[in-house]
Amino acid sequence: MTDFQRPRGTRDFPPEEMEQRRIVEDGLRKVARSFNFGEVMTPTFENTELFVAKSGPGIIDEIYAFKDKGDREISLRPELTAAVMRYYVKELHTRPKPLKLYYMGNCFRYERPQKGRYREFWQFGAEIIGAPSLEADAEVLALAYYCAVGSGAVVTDIRIGHLGVMKALFEKAQIGDDLQADIRRYLDKKDFDGLDAFFAEKGLSPETLGTLTELVNLHGNRNILDKAQELMGGDCADIVYLKDLARRLNSYGIQDSQYSIDLGVARGLDYYTGMVFEIDAAGLGAESQICGGGAYSLSETFGGQQIFSTGFAFGFDRLILARSSDEEIIPKLDIYFIPISDDARLKCLELATELRKAGVSADIDLLGRKVGKAFGYADTIGARTAIVIGDKELAEKKVNVKDMATGDQTPVEFSRLLDHYQNK
Ligand code: AMP
Repeated sequence: MTDFQRPRGTRDFPPEEMEQRRIVEDGLRKVARSFNFGEVMTPTFENTELFVAKSGPGIIDEIYAFKDKGDREISLRPELTAAVMRYYVKELHTRPKPLKLYYMGNCFRYERPQKGRYREFWQFGAEIIGAPSLEADAEVLALAYYCAVGSGAVVTDIRIGHLGVMKALFEKAQIGDDLQADIRRYLDKKDFDGLDAFFAEKGLSPETLGTLTELVNLHGNRNILDKAQELMGGDCADIVYLKDLARRLNSYGIQDSQYSIDLGVARGLDYYTGMVFEIDAAGLGAESQICGGGAYSLSETFGGQQIFSTGFAFGFDRLILARSSDEEIIPKLDIYFIPISDDARLKCLELATELRKAGVSADIDLLGRKVGKAFGYADTIGARTAIVIGDKELAEKKVNVKDMATGDQTPVEFSRLLDHYQNK
């Protein structure tokens, strides 16, 4: 017999986990809506060229890229920013600015699975398109902060950097754009040995490497910006920018102790232009990054006019893993009906339907179990209350509502049952 397995790196989710995921997802949506972001949805697969245009041809090795039956080059999306920007360039660009969009969707990457790293995973992300950079950066950072904290994840650090600081250093040292991109990739991977070798191979100044190393190791509260200013030998507009940003974050209710400045945040991809940030959480081992984002310029890559954008993407699965696990699991079923005759079953169906219509969750024994067994089942599925209906209850038009936690019984007339649950 064939042993039917899930594809590697994918997961099935049981109802209790889905319940938890939906609660967190609903919370994220609520926060996004409170910031006036509107939801968008894009296709699960796109033409491969979209991802190649965004991330370069190397992306093909990391994603699910294939030819469809019409010989078209198609890829399952590895993230949603590319699709959102394609959508913006093609259809949304005429809308009043700024556009504040958010999304939640599954993504696919062909990578080696481990805890917090899957081949199918979910991202929750947001983008502001067409607002002045400082205001958009602050708004996006604040949204990310309130999403992270509101999700119940144990956030350990929000590291904010700015690619312009590094860029200013590179320009002083006359290091060209291509080399800059390579250097950023080493930094993103924290591969300092590789970086040393790269500087030596390209004949770049060891002095610049020294300053760069000091700069990217600057990580702490906003006072490190003064140290960065010294390292840069005086004025650096992007350091001043980060100071302004920090002040705005305070006004958003985010205190200096709740984020850090990290000039080593490099983000691996070339389309980031300014402020960049990453959020880390506890309990995830090597994959501690739950969110990455920053200011970027992509619309021109997809044939549109250049426009300022800032966005982020949370790894939704990592958010779930990073939630503290001592939260109370609240039983989710309000009432479990146990009918002990055919007529009683019909009455149970009627009562359950009335309750369900009013938003009270109700279930009915479908197996005709004996009362004792049915109570046992109600207990295992976490029902808050259970009601047995037999001939006596039908005759008296009254039930005993049994509280499953205490065993207490409360007599309630059929006609008062909905009131009873709604007033609890
Ligand atoms: P990225 O689009 O690479 O910046 O990723 C954004 C976020 O998605 C990361 O910070 C992770 O939390 C999450 N993420 C990326 N790759 C995976 C993966 N393979 N499995 C689960 N989460 C992921």
